[in-house]
Amino acid sequence: MAGLHIIDHPLVQHKISLLRDKNTGTKEFRELVSEIAMFICYEATRDLPLKEIELETPIAVAKTKIISGRKLAFVPILRAGLGMVEGVTALVPAAKIGHIGLFRDPESKEPVLYYSKMPDDIHERDVIVVDPMLATGHSAIAAIDEIKRLGVKSVKFMCIISSPEGVEAIQKTHPDVEIYAGVMDEGLNDDKYIVPGVGDAGDRIFGTK
Ligand code: URA
Repeated sequence: MAGLHIIDHPLVQHKISLLRDKNTGTKEFRELVSEIAMFICYEATRDLPLKEIELETPIAVAKTKIISGRKLAFVPILRAGLGMVEGVTALVPAAKIGHIGLFRDPESKEPVLYYSKMPDDIHERDVIVVDPMLATGHSAIAAIDEIKRLGVKSVKFMCIISSPEGVEAIQKTHPDVEIYAGVMDEGLNDDKYIVPGVGDAGDRIFGTK
């Protein structure tokens, strides 16, 4: 079974505390989501394969390393996942971006895919799905289902706040998917919000509500 990686770096933990504060406004919240996404992405890309090349520095020929192997794509889950795109592409500017939109069927309560737009070569890429909140895990699982259906072999999931329920749900359904999170909170309330969490991440990123 794939693992859960909690990025317990002091800068990440400090910035998550600022996110949680209900007095943090939209501008700061958006900047923090982007910065935290960048730090978590740093860890989520730690295992990218390298190859050795030779080049000339102004002083001598150097044997040095560059990233090799398959290219990356990030897939934000609409809409809160969009808040993480700037941070992750700051680290991996060559990555392509796919988008997935899901809504919750009012009767079945299950996520329904309403939008999926991926790079044409998605099946040749390693994919990191991004969404700041991993609550029930239903959206994450539906997004991963869709990405695997398109032929992607390696999928990772990145969030800022995870819940035990969400992590368990992903690990049960997609045991090969590594999860990267800034923190794991206590659990979900009756409305399926993460406790203590940050509230509605989409509303706080985009200033709606
Ligand atoms: N989505 C959010 O934005 N917040 C939660 O707490 C759970 C899901």
